Amino acid sequence: MRRSDSAASGRVVSVARVSLAMLLLAAGAASAERLHKYTVAIDADLSTLNVRACFDGAAPATLSAESLDATLALTEFRVERSRKSIEPSGSISLKSVPENGCVVYRVDVSRPIRQHDRTGDKIHHLGKDLLTSVGIWFWRPEKLDVDEDIDITFVLPEGIAVSVPWAPVAPHGDRAVFRTGRSPYDWPASVAFGRFKEREIHVGGARLRLAVLDATPAADVEKMQAWIQDSARMVAELYGHFPQSQAQILVVPGARGNEPTPWAYVVRGGSPAAHFFINQRRPMKEFFEDWTAVHELSHLLLPYVNSDDIWLSEGVATYYQNVLRARGGRMTASEAWHRLHAGFVRGMGSAHGLTLAQATESMYRDDTYMRVYWEGAAMLLIADVRLRQITAGKQSLDTALAALNECCTTADRAWSARQLFDKLDEVTGTGIFGEIYDQHVASKNFPDLTQTYKALGISIGPGGIEFSAEEREARLRDAVMGAAAVASEEE
Ligand SMILES: [Zn+2]
Repeated sequence: MRRSDSAASGRVVSVARVSLAMLLLAAGAASAERLHKYTVAIDADLSTLNVRACFDGAAPATLSAESLDATLALTEFRVERSRKSIEPSGSISLKSVPENGCVVYRVDVSRPIRQHDRTGDKIHHLGKDLLTSVGIWFWRPEKLDVDEDIDITFVLPEGIAVSVPWAPVAPHGDRAVFRTGRSPYDWPASVAFGRFKEREIHVGGARLRLAVLDATPAADVEKMQAWIQDSARMVAELYGHFPQSQAQILVVPGARGNEPTPWAYVVRGGSPAAHFFINQRRPMKEFFEDWTAVHELSHLLLPYVNSDDIWLSEGVATYYQNVLRARGGRMTASEAWHRLHAGFVRGMGSAHGLTLAQATESMYRDDTYMRVYWEGAAMLLIADVRLRQITAGKQSLDTALAALNECCTTADRAWSARQLFDKLDEVTGTGIFGEIYDQHVASKNFPDLTQTYKALGISIGPGGIEFSAEEREARLRDAVMGAAAVASEEE
């Protein structure tokens, strides 16, 4: 998240896109033996969702929706071909649904509902477009078995497109069809409907599906695409491909704030998605200079990390927002080191007397963001430097994350920092990550960077940090901040 990681397609799907999508799915999702089928229709006013859900075999015992306000938005729920409606009581009981039966329900998305759910609006009308949290309308089984999955088909009025986090599958005629996958039902996800035209960005082997929502003044979609593409390319350069095969990218223009991207975050429901709330009035140059998009997309280098350990996901994003932008030529290596150092100083000055675990726990309440983000980044710099040292440059945090991406990107579980650090030790064949974890997570002190700075030839002078001219130290600094050096060392 900017400051703070919480956990599609147009109506007409082109033939070329679909065949690629089918190839993507061939490996995993397409293997579901029981496939429940949802059809979601929206009216031209974008005010009502009519959903039909048909179950493959026995219906699940209950359906649940993530938002506490989902029952308030639900205006009718009944077994198909039955007049009797079913009343939700928290979840919805499907006792009366026959084998291979269907239910139909209707959801009012005409206005925001804020009664029990305190986690933000789940229904936003933005200009002519609609942004929904799936938790307000997607009534689904809480758990899917390994052989189960759900396909959602959208039936859209002429001129209306949909943006979803899920992987596209073959269309039925001109309808857009997606497979939801088995990520936990309560992981946040958003679906947008409107008159936007979804753009597909191909970068580093990934297909990023960008939707820019309606606003006054309208955002320049072409330039937004260039900005996301530029940021995603820097992330893809870390190990030669983008960390995910596909992602939903939502850009929501709000014309507010004195920076280009006042708010942004990554969510993981269905598949990873990044949402950017932008001020479209800011000059485009500011978007390209801003760190937010590289930070958010860097979150995708890790699988979903439990919120108790948000220091790890934020640490990775905070470290790489500087490293990757230096490697991408958006700033000099020297500037990147200065930015990292300045961040560590801010982290040291925050949350005195608290351990990292405690500072993480109280982050939203006590504004200990600086400690959490920058101590996470400091631990990763220490790990990066140690790995490079003990393997004579053969390994690095980059190669460790590349190996992690090979083994462990499933979207259906959350990791603790301890589990991820153990996995990083396993894939690197070292004990570095576990040691760093043991030293710092329960410590009240910000990590001591003396040894790391010494290895890098960085000292603290009267005007800030200074760099030594010693060749080995300079080479180590270049290996961290220079893409060319990293590439040559890997050979
Ligand atoms: Zn973040």
